Amino acid sequence: MRIVFLGAPGAGKGTQARRLEARGGWPQVSTGDLLRAAVAAGTPLGKRAKAAMDAGELVSDPLVMALLGERLGAEDCSGGFILDGFPRSASQALLLKELLRASRQRLDAVVMLELPREVLMKRLTGRRTCSATGKLLNIYFSSAEELNASRAAGGELIQRDDDTEETIANRLSVYEQQTRPLLAHYAGLLRRVDAAGTPDEVFERILRALPPADSTAPAANSAGPSPGKLHG
Ligand code: ADP
Repeated sequence: MRIVFLGAPGAGKGTQARRLEARGGWPQVSTGDLLRAAVAAGTPLGKRAKAAMDAGELVSDPLVMALLGERLGAEDCSGGFILDGFPRSASQALLLKELLRASRQRLDAVVMLELPREVLMKRLTGRRTCSATGKLLNIYFSSAEELNASRAAGGELIQRDDDTEETIANRLSVYEQQTRPLLAHYAGLLRRVDAAGTPDEVFERILRALPPADSTAPAANSAGPSPGKLHG
């Protein structure tokens, strides 16, 4: 199954794409994660991408495509993948179309996670990662128990570099201007999902919205449970 997750920053694309990877066996491919890894590794590409990321702007297509082309060409993507954070603009949608056409592949579904702006803001400004456990938490929404567990483990709550209020506002407006118009582009494949509620609730809605996963099974050697279990 080849799926694109669309949605504003903070809508929960990463969380849900990782859950779907665990359930269906198709790797989650996040351009944000690929870019952050390149920045952390200090590669020339990462150095060129960092300023745009810190400002909440889109990184240029050639840089993103260099990372994505390599990742999607890897063996574990041959039976399907879940794209998280790509495409983000009309030009990227065209580049994806060409990439898929060249390898005689097509998308099966585009999942759009929908959430009101006030909730997006709280999710993003409150988002923290526990330095001890790696767990993603939120100072507004995580339970006192979860927050205390992080403290007890000796963890610090770390905020992502681009989760400051100013950058968040810019990321949301870039989304409105460049990414939201893709909804019309993908009209035929689009599955709109209400992204409010707990991660479990949202995941159930996503599973119900996806097409049956029979003819789109991942490669035989891919990790993870059988995609036949998707709806079960
Ligand atoms: P979010 O969706 O929460 O903004 P991501 O991790 O997907 O977070 O992306 C973080 C940043 O990485 C973006 O603000 C942008 O600078 C860059 N980025 C990620 N994906 C793309 C992409 N497809 N094209 C251009 N830039 C991207």
